[in-house]
Amino acid sequence: MSIRTLNLDDTLYGYVLDHSLREHPQLAAIREATRHHPHRGMQISPEQGQFMALLAKLVGARRAIEIGVFTGYSALAVALALPEDGRLLACDISDEDVAQGRPHWQSAGVAHKIDLRIAPASQTLAACLSAGEAGRYDFAFIDADKTGYDAYYEAVLQLLRPGGLVLLDNMLRNGDVARPSTHADVRAIQALNDKLHRDERVDISLLPISDGITLARKR
Ligand code: SAM
Ligand code: CA
Repeated sequence: MSIRTLNLDDTLYGYVLDHSLREHPQLAAIREATRHHPHRGMQISPEQGQFMALLAKLVGARRAIEIGVFTGYSALAVALALPEDGRLLACDISDEDVAQGRPHWQSAGVAHKIDLRIAPASQTLAACLSAGEAGRYDFAFIDADKTGYDAYYEAVLQLLRPGGLVLLDNMLRNGDVARPSTHADVRAIQALNDKLHRDERVDISLLPISDGITLARKR
């Protein structure tokens, strides 16, 4: 067996960024604008955004869903990867945070691709299903309240076409998933990891990068 995963110290992380990151100036601007936000730690890393954009292109995504927008970094990364007639259904409950990202979506020339819905994501997804949109999406990113993940996953799985891809963020919860926990968020992710392992509706990979990203491809 080869080495499991390299320990990414600051020097190696810097090397990775120096030799692979191609960050759009408006993505960098969102990072800068979020730098002093009290919840800045919620933002995905730039290399994760680039990875997600590559995955969206690999599955030929035209219609995508994001659950958890915050200040709009991941939404912009995915929207930039969609074709000109592509659409990202972006779900969040905080208009205030999302408002910080919107001018950058406009400056990047992709605001027209982002269909923002400010409402609990469960309601937005249920409305899509009621509108007959099952099987019409190609790509999804789940990155909101952890206790809601299972319900979001189930709705998203219905909305995706066969071959569509869903990414679930924070599936390692800073390592806490590997230990017994009484924390509701950790327990929700533990239960979902157990379920995904057995879920024959999808092909999966739990990548130990960032805070753990699960890729699940609908069969
Ligand atoms: N993907 C974002 C990024 O790259 O910057 C980070 C998202 S942040 C981890 C989680 C977001 O989920 C917050 O903006 C929060 O308002 C939103 N959220 C929490 N509960 C929600 C719900 N029930 N429905 C929709 N969004 C929700
Ligand atoms: Ca996250």
